[in-house]
This record gives sequence, C-alpha cells and structure tokens, in this order.
Amino acid sequence: MSKHYVVIAEVRSEQLRQVSLEAIEAARLSAHEGDTISALLLGHNLSEQVSQLSRYVSGQVHVLDHPDLEHYLAERYCSAIIPVLESLEPYAIVLGHTAMGRDLAPMLAAHFQAGQISDVTAIHRNGSELLFTRPVYAGKAFEQKRFIDGRHIITVRPNNIPPAAEAGSPGEIVQHAYTAPVNLRTIIKDVITKASGRVDLAEAQIVVSGGRGVKSAEGFKPLEQLAEVLGGAVGASRGACDAGYCDYALQIGQTGKVVTPQIYIACGISGAIQHLAGMSQSRIIIAINKDPEAPIFKIADYGIVGDLFEVVPLLTEEFRKALA
Ligand SMILES: Cc1cc2nc3c(=O)[nH]c(=O)nc-3n(C[C@H](O)[C@H](O)[C@H](O)COP(=O)(O)OP(=O)(O)OC[C@H]3O[C@@H](n4cnc5c(N)ncnc54)[C@H](O)[C@@H]3O)c2cc1C
Repeated sequence: MSKHYVVIAEVRSEQLRQVSLEAIEAARLSAHEGDTISALLLGHNLSEQVSQLSRYVSGQVHVLDHPDLEHYLAERYCSAIIPVLESLEPYAIVLGHTAMGRDLAPMLAAHFQAGQISDVTAIHRNGSELLFTRPVYAGKAFEQKRFIDGRHIITVRPNNIPPAAEAGSPGEIVQHAYTAPVNLRTIIKDVITKASGRVDLAEAQIVVSGGRGVKSAEGFKPLEQLAEVLGGAVGASRGACDAGYCDYALQIGQTGKVVTPQIYIACGISGAIQHLAGMSQSRIIIAINKDPEAPIFKIADYGIVGDLFEVVPLLTEEFRKALA
C-alpha cells in the first residue's frame, strides 16, 4: 500500500529555508515508488514561497496563511497543523532540525502517538529496512536507528542531506482555513531580531568563527569582512561570547548552535571539546591560531600558525581578488 510523507516546511526572513528542501529529499530517500510526498507550509503572505515549494514536491502543497501565523508560536502552530495532518493521515512527518522543528516534532509525536528520530544526518536502506543515522555524545559517535511500527516523525539536521531537486511538474496548492485556538497561554508581543547576519548561521556554507583570541568586539571586524567576501556567516566560541566580544546567538558548540558548513574557519579558538561538538562535522576545517599546540589543529584539515590579525586580512584580500 502506498504511503504518504508530509514535510512541514519553514520560512525564515521571508525565505523558504534550505533545510525544508533537505527534508523533502529525506522524504524521497525514505519513500518507495508510488508513495506520495506533500508539503505543509504555515505563515503569512506566503504566495512566493508556496509557488517555490510547489516546484519541489510531487504531491500537494498544503498552506495555512494567516496573520496569526506570521511568527512561530507552539500552541498556535500545533493547533493549526493537527487538523490538516489528521485529514492527510501521513505515514511519516519530516521537519528540519531547527528551533521550530525541535519544538514542534515532539508535540506532534505525542499527539499522534508516533515514534520520533531526531537530528538525522543520513538515511540508508538495508534491504527493506530504513536506517537513520544521528550523532550522539556531542557528535563523538553516531548511532543508527530504525522505526519498528506506526507513524514516523523525523527531524533532519541542516546541511547534511542534499536539497531536493525540482520535481517534474509542480505540486497542486491546497489552501486551508485557519481557526485560532481558544485559551492561548502565550502570545507573541514583538519579535526582536538580534545579531543576525545576512546568512543564517545554521545553514551557512561557510562559517568564519572567532574565539577568545579575537580579544575584543572590535577584533571581530576582520572576521566579519572575511565572511562577507566569502558570502558566509560569523560564528563564535563560548569563550568569545562569555568575554562579551559578541552575542550568544553566535555561539557554536555543545550549548550553542550546531553547524555543518562546507568550510569552517576557526580564528583564535583553542578547540575545546565543547566547541568541537558544534562544528566537527564541517566538511573542511581551517584553523588559524598562534599556538602550534592548540588542540584545534588535531581536527583541522588546514592549519595556519600565526596571528589572526595578520592572517585574516591577508586571506580576505586574496579571496577578494580571486572572487572579483
Ligand atoms: C558545560 C560546558 C558547555 C560548554 N559549551 C561550549 C560551547 O557550546 N561552545 C564553546 O565554544 N565552548 C563551550 N564551553 C567552553 C569551552 O570549554 C571553552 O572554554 C571555550 O570553547 C574556549 O573558547 P576559546 O577557544 O575561544 O578560548 P581559549 O581557550 O582561551 O582559546 C583562545 C585561543 O586563541 C589563540 N589566540 C590568542 N591570540 C591569538 C591571535 N592573535 N591569533 C591567533 N590565535 C590566537 C590562543 O592560542 C588560544 O588557542 C563549554 C564549557 C562547559 C563546561
């Protein structure tokens, strides 16, 4: 019997998030021929994102478009999504392992009595069995899990599964009515965006990160310039955040964000295990540190022993010329 996969897509800063396309690919990797993949998108003023999304799904694109849904609020989103999902009867629900996905998935799992596998980085088929790989012990090991029975919910880690290619023909768009939930316990008064760069750190392909070696908030400027030339995002160690050089929103690591870019440039970061937990899965790691014994060099693919205030501007200049 054919199965129905529903991907809950996400919009951020008016853009369809790349991880939503990766979630569609995760559904494709899991599905068999004849299975249907649909998407569900919530928010406000979504026409552009909906038509973009429809190019990637073979099934329908279900839309809940209402001013109340402009910002994620667990109770609102959950109560809006549940009736739609109940009518679609999905076999599996797939979300990005984002702040929203991490919050929403367990609530849906509880409501639907579904099994959940979170933070999936790869999907393999072993005969008829689907195996989901996910990191454990702060990324020091990986485990493979499988579902035994019932409805499935998975969240996929950004930048690990390739984004879906466009489907042959655009999916049909189905608008759904939104009914505000009664007895809301929380409302959003205002959303204050802080320390946000042009590129979303969690999805950035290049991250230039600074540690305590950057020495001051001013010291982050050369890193920002390098990130700008490379079209990347700026990150930081907790050492730099604790010292007040940058906002905690930039913190990468065990208690910060997990990033998996193509290139991670660590500037003046020692390489403590808690920092590695957030970036060790980056494809190429470049470390700049004046201490040749710094532990970061043990996991770096390329290491530059030197003063970051000399090395970073030189790199920026060379990349600017090369990319001009
Ligand atoms: C429970 C717990 C959770 C934690 N979670 C996190 C987390 O999520 N993320 C995180 O990052 N840390 C985390 N930490 C903190 C972690 O243990 C380290 O203290 C922190 O990562 C150190 O930051 P740092 O490498 O920037 O600073 P330092 O260890 O002080 O290293 C600075 C480095 O800069 C180099 N340097 C100095 N000047 C220059 C220069 N001019 N040019 C080049 N190099 C220079 C030095 O040689 C040194 O290697 C956590 C700790 C605990 C206990």
